Amino acid sequence: MNSIEKQKGWLIGISIAMIVLAVAGLVFGIILLVAGISTISTTAGIIKLVFGIILTLAGMVLLPLGIRWAWIGLALSATKGSIKQGNIAKEGGTVNMKKCDKCGTELKDGETVCSNCGKKFE
Ligand SMILES: [Zn+2]
Repeated sequence: MNSIEKQKGWLIGISIAMIVLAVAGLVFGIILLVAGISTISTTAGIIKLVFGIILTLAGMVLLPLGIRWAWIGLALSATKGSIKQGNIAKEGGTVNMKKCDKCGTELKDGETVCSNCGKKFE
C-alpha cells in the first residue's frame, strides 16, 4: 500500500463517518427541534430545542465537509489506475523520468540535450 492509497482510504473513511454523523445529527436535531417546540413551555422542551438547534447546525456544517472529503478521496481512487505504486519516486515525481547524470535535471521525452547544463545524450 503506497501513500496515495493510504490517504485515499483515510479520506474516504473519515468522509463517510462525517456524512453518517451529519445525517444523524440533522435527523436527531430536527426530531429534537420538533419535540422541543411542541413542549416549549417546559424546561425539558427548551433543552430539546437548544440541542436540536446545535445538532442541526453541526449536521449542516459536517455534511458539505464530508461530501467534499469524499470527493477528494474518490478523485484519488480515480487516479490510482494511472499512478501505479512502482511509478512513484521517493522524492516525488515519477521514476521513469530520465535525469541528466551530470546535474540531475529531469529530461523531457525525446530530449537529447540537458536544458540546464547542456550535456548531450545518445
Ligand atoms: Zn544536466
